[in-house]
Amino acid sequence: MTNITGKHITILGAVRSGIAAAKLAKQMGAIPFVSDYSSVLSSVPELDELGIAYELGGHTEKVFNCNFIITSPGIPSDASVISKAKDSGLKIISEIEFASWFCKGSVIAITGSNGKTTTTTLCNHTLNYCDIKTYSAGNIGVAFSEIVLDVKEDEYVALEVSSFQLDFIDSFKPKYAVVLNITPDHLDRYDNNFDKYAESKLKINANQNSDDFIIYNIDDEYLSKSKLANGKQIKFSLKSLEEGVFVENNNFNFNTENKNEIICATKVLQIKGEHNQYNAMAVMAVAKLIGIENKKIAEAFSTFKGVEHRLELVRILNGVQFINDSKATNVNSVWYALRSFQNPIRLILGGKDKGNDYNSIKELVSDNVKKIYAIGSSSEIILRFFEGIVETKKMNSFEEAVNTAFEDAVDEEVVLLSPACASFDMFKNYEERGNEFKQLVMKLSQ
Ligand code: ADP
Repeated sequence: MTNITGKHITILGAVRSGIAAAKLAKQMGAIPFVSDYSSVLSSVPELDELGIAYELGGHTEKVFNCNFIITSPGIPSDASVISKAKDSGLKIISEIEFASWFCKGSVIAITGSNGKTTTTTLCNHTLNYCDIKTYSAGNIGVAFSEIVLDVKEDEYVALEVSSFQLDFIDSFKPKYAVVLNITPDHLDRYDNNFDKYAESKLKINANQNSDDFIIYNIDDEYLSKSKLANGKQIKFSLKSLEEGVFVENNNFNFNTENKNEIICATKVLQIKGEHNQYNAMAVMAVAKLIGIENKKIAEAFSTFKGVEHRLELVRILNGVQFINDSKATNVNSVWYALRSFQNPIRLILGGKDKGNDYNSIKELVSDNVKKIYAIGSSSEIILRFFEGIVETKKMNSFEEAVNTAFEDAVDEEVVLLSPACASFDMFKNYEERGNEFKQLVMKLSQ
């Protein structure tokens, strides 16, 4: 455990993880100072209560008067405060790096472009179901710093880790590192440079040694070519593998040098789609390495109902299924959503564009989608792209999209909200978009 007694630590960002890091720093005997650029808040009661000093509405010179800096995910890596700190030779770390210094238990760090929350939640569910005390933390609502001191030596943390947090690690060394996939997302934060974005995800493996495990998707184009230099490699795939976790004859299998075994049937998994089979295989690898029995893994999977706003079934009305996939904020997750249904789909697509390239879903849309209901500021882009491929109509409101899709839909069709875009042009966040979708759907009558 790193000794930080008496150290001056600046924390950038008075958001949840920043506040949690400040509290942890204080508990560990350091002198934290929190600085936030935003002037939305006029005070931070949690910091006042603990007597932690802070400034809001800008970063003053006080920021640099410290031993090191902890930055928050919301702060761009090219922000001037970061460049200035780097120029003055100050060490800058992320909140997960900081919290990891005080973790006595084993960390299962989960990253990827898509599936992090689902996999982290499934991992937490599976391990706890099998009586292995596990906490879930990271991007998932609870900061690592908030729970780290509760974690005992024989306990686990399922930690959702974004590339922003990995950008600023130093000695972060998870016992189990999971990389689900690497596809374009958030490229705006990486100068539109895919390699730069991908490299930051692979940093999850940087400090691992031969006692640690790197669990990754060998079907992913980028990962199949990557050099994951450290740790013991465990691959997972939807195709047969000599060693690793894979699907064969509708079963999940685990092959090692010494033993080949069937873990359980794929149908045990209650969450739909191939993408969720990948997420499940990642969790299965961790569970097997920990030594959990196959029977227990199967039971845990059969009791997992999925996470809200991810291919969530809202209602079946007049034989039409309404699916809320509001968390699908990039094209790749829509690709998987479109492959998850056998029946014709009416797709609600659009929102704030992130430079989307729809080419990868062109064929699937042409085969599986009856009509696109284009919403938000990207609706014109969508209309232009899908012209001649599928009927596409611009909607004037979200409500109009839901109502029109329902009016058009016939028995056994699917109305799918899987927008491929961020929500900020119309909503506060994807949760608000998903909740509004659910409310509108519940208001529909036969
Ligand atoms: P993240 O936390 O990485 O954003 P989520 O679990 O919240 O991932 O899922 C985000 C979206 O991606 C949802 O639409 C979900 O259905 C889809 N998704 C989940 N797992 C995967 C995966 N392994 N590959 C592609 N898409 C996925």
